Amino acid sequence: MSAPTRIDLHAHSTASDGTLSPAELVRAAADAGLDVVAITDHDTTAGWDAAVRALPPGLALVRGAEISCRWYGAEPAIPLHLLAYLFDPDEPALAAELARIRAAREVRAERIVELLRADGVEVSWPEILAGAGGGVVGRPHIAQALIRAGLVASTTEAFGPRWLGERYRLPKEDVDVFRAVALVRAAGGVPVFAHPKASRRGRIVPDELIVDLAAAGLAGLEADHEDHSPVERAHVRRLAAELGLLVTGSSDFHGTHKTVQLGAFTTDPAGYEAIVAAGVTPVASG
Ligand code: AMP
Ligand code: FE
Ligand code: FE
Ligand code: ZN
Repeated sequence: MSAPTRIDLHAHSTASDGTLSPAELVRAAADAGLDVVAITDHDTTAGWDAAVRALPPGLALVRGAEISCRWYGAEPAIPLHLLAYLFDPDEPALAAELARIRAAREVRAERIVELLRADGVEVSWPEILAGAGGGVVGRPHIAQALIRAGLVASTTEAFGPRWLGERYRLPKEDVDVFRAVALVRAAGGVPVFAHPKASRRGRIVPDELIVDLAAAGLAGLEADHEDHSPVERAHVRRLAAELGLLVTGSSDFHGTHKTVQLGAFTTDPAGYEAIVAAGVTPVASG
């Protein structure tokens, strides 16, 4: 058997703000020619079982999540995303923290809707919640309501400053990033910093924080991602080499909520193998 070569370690399903169900996601991954895909929904493992059950032959599934975090070393604190792979989903401390931030996301999304409605924008909270279909609610679901109302033409426009990017933006209740790294490790998982230098998404953290996170148990950095410029990708790779961190690349696929396609960016086998070796939950194979 040859080593897997097409490895995409960051994708969302309807368990959060993607548009394909977990079963559709793994089928789409096989159709895209991937050997390995990771399901990494925001703050939830709810899609794992359905994805495993639907795994097509020849595809391997890395079970993961993308945890909403914050670094409090800057004022105001900087939000960031921590990918967590192959952890025990039943480990109580991590499971409780994920449940807490999911609940807080709902409160926050409803508040955003209230702000919009107070300004006369006709969006409906029950409809937005229904649009999330039981998945973890995020701004992309509110963006869909703005599109349905004819107020914006695209998700990108909905994330502009006039709407969810600034005027109607509320912070999430996130996890301190050092606590998140410790929780993921304690649950037997492998923490990887998602798109750490994506300056086009907003403020980014300094290298010094990444040095400290590496000392605290961070395992890797996502280098190849559509939100990183070529210079940022090279910078992340250099930093990872200096710190002995593994490197990943991934699409961060969200179905039709984003334009990027599965497999648009991929992970080298070395990074994948380091994750598999360090995680407590086995990779599932179809
Ligand atoms: P939230 O987690 O509710 O703060 O929403 C953030 C999510 O919105 C991200 O995970 C992306 O899926 C999506 N997102 C953020 N910025 C954009 C953008 N400019 N265009 C499309 N989707 C975006
Ligand atoms: Fe997302
Ligand atoms: Fe992310
Ligand atoms: Zn993501």
